[in-house]
Amino acid sequence: MPEHSTEDPLGCRLVDGDPCDEDAGLDSLRPASLADFVGQEAAKGNLSVFIEAARQRGEALDHVLLHGHPGLGKTTLAHILAAELGVGITFTSGPVLERKGDLAAILTNLQPRDVLFVDEIHRLNHVVEEALYPAMEDFRLDLVIGEGPSARVVKLDLAPFTLVGATTRAGLITTPLRDRFGVQVRVDFYTADELAQIVLRSARILGMEIDPEGALEIARRSRATPRVANRLLKRVRDFAQVEGDGRVDARLADYALSRLGVDQAGLDRLDRELLATIIDKFDGGPVGLGTLAAAVAEEAHTIEEVYEPYLIQQGLLQRTKAGRVATRLGFEHLGKKPSSGAQKRLF
Ligand code: ADP
Repeated sequence: MPEHSTEDPLGCRLVDGDPCDEDAGLDSLRPASLADFVGQEAAKGNLSVFIEAARQRGEALDHVLLHGHPGLGKTTLAHILAAELGVGITFTSGPVLERKGDLAAILTNLQPRDVLFVDEIHRLNHVVEEALYPAMEDFRLDLVIGEGPSARVVKLDLAPFTLVGATTRAGLITTPLRDRFGVQVRVDFYTADELAQIVLRSARILGMEIDPEGALEIARRSRATPRVANRLLKRVRDFAQVEGDGRVDARLADYALSRLGVDQAGLDRLDRELLATIIDKFDGGPVGLGTLAAAVAEEAHTIEEVYEPYLIQQGLLQRTKAGRVATRLGFEHLGKKPSSGAQKRLF
């Protein structure tokens, strides 16, 4: 069976949790209420209490920090919070807020109790971040008007609002910023059963015919990430339509995903190449990140942020002090036998 590339012509890697242009068509799949949001039960339970309490008191909800890998539902949760609070939502992101004035323009336009969603909040520059502290704490902005000796500080009162910050890198958030979030939620990877529910729900919205086994097959290969599951579902639908009778069962899903180069564990060609390089060129490791990056002609930080988290989560790769190491499972996954040296390290 020919193996097709998982990078599609639009430059989007199918199994990457980060959004890409082609995902625009997936907007209709976004759940609009907590009841429709699958999984994350503990977080959902707590959030619904905080939402209800804020509504009863007629106050803005405390600021919420959402952290978790790309594609796990942080933006979706922010939408849902605003909808359930019955308030408006404004979107921005850390790198977009370059100057204090950018922040002031947004904050002064918020209606009372509105949600301000700041994506990639770990990428705020320190000037904007420090301006945010009094805004979060006292709904106040200190602005300097004018320059030189005539400059004066103007204190601007803001409408109470809820900041919802999202980050993929909780470790990069400064302590003073983190401490100003009353509610902190970790958005976790999803189980295959949860993802299967998401796939079934999305299929219903897309008007597709899919059976539970077909949904589970897609779920298992979606890297525990809803965005990937929805993306794979759309591709499987194409195969079902063109090469099948339109219906998706486990066999059709397996066939389509294999054609797309997404294997049983959700790895694509690039993941397998990375693992194979560690095994074939470096005897299973340890190999330093820089050396590995050069060997696969990829940026070190892309390896660290895009490829490795899932390989590590699956137990196929380990980060050690000495470098990256393929695990026994990693060898087995590629059907490779460890050399005697590698065997000694592994067993
Ligand atoms: P993030 O902001 O964490 O990168 P998003 O909120 O944009 O992720 O979610 C990506 C896509 O996955 C959304 O379009 C949404 O349809 C889907 N999704 C995410 N979480 C869930 C969930 N818990 N239930 C159903 N669909 C979800």
